[in-house]
Amino acid sequence: MSSIPPPAPAGEPLARLRRQVSDLHQELVRYQLVVWTAGNVSARVPGSDHFVIKPSGVDYDALTEHNMIVCDLQGRVVEGELAPSSDTAAHAYVYRHMPEVGGVVHTHSTYACAWAVRGEPVPCVLTAMADEFGAEIPVGPFALIGDDSIGRGIVETLRGHRSPAVLMQNHGVFTIGKDARAAVKAAVMCEDVARTVHISRQLGAPLPIPGADVDRLYDRYQNVYGQQPAVDPVHAPEGTRPADRGVTA
Ligand SMILES: [Zn+2]
Repeated sequence: MSSIPPPAPAGEPLARLRRQVSDLHQELVRYQLVVWTAGNVSARVPGSDHFVIKPSGVDYDALTEHNMIVCDLQGRVVEGELAPSSDTAAHAYVYRHMPEVGGVVHTHSTYACAWAVRGEPVPCVLTAMADEFGAEIPVGPFALIGDDSIGRGIVETLRGHRSPAVLMQNHGVFTIGKDARAAVKAAVMCEDVARTVHISRQLGAPLPIPGADVDRLYDRYQNVYGQQPAVDPVHAPEGTRPADRGVTA
């Protein structure tokens, strides 16, 4: 393998993607999924062996399209002044091994982490959860940062699973999507259902949804729900966007 990364892609599509990735980080803040500088969004550059990710340790308020980092699928920087997110290797591993994935998100959102530290999957006991996840939200292995362990754990858990979200044990949430916006949506929904099911458990045992009904709900939401024609995946006005279908059906 050459140690010299291939040249970065260029042009307006990349500029737009940088802007999308920068803007989507504000959604993590808006939905209170992150504190300080923890958490990150990345997007595969369509038609190219590269992805855009945020720089490491930069305040969310200071993120712009101009300080986003472009990496190759080995996680090497090909464009950008700053060091990329410390989770870049995990994102790169997912893009290398799941070609259908166009976006990856990582957060330490509170309620999802409360399940992750117990190593307990979130059971599929809400219709909205059947819609989005089509199953429980699974737990991935305990893995330390520094090599491919986290990426491998994400891929091994999500490959063949309907859920676009995995709770990495004792750590946090990784989500995938057909694009970065879909992965952000999965991160938002993951925290929402983790919170509701957690609260429900304080008062008793949540009632299960029969598997056949989970299947029916998932199929309807993934294939029928929402407006069909896709426009700009970040800037489209509310109510005109498709259902942001998952990628692991
Ligand atoms: Zn983390």
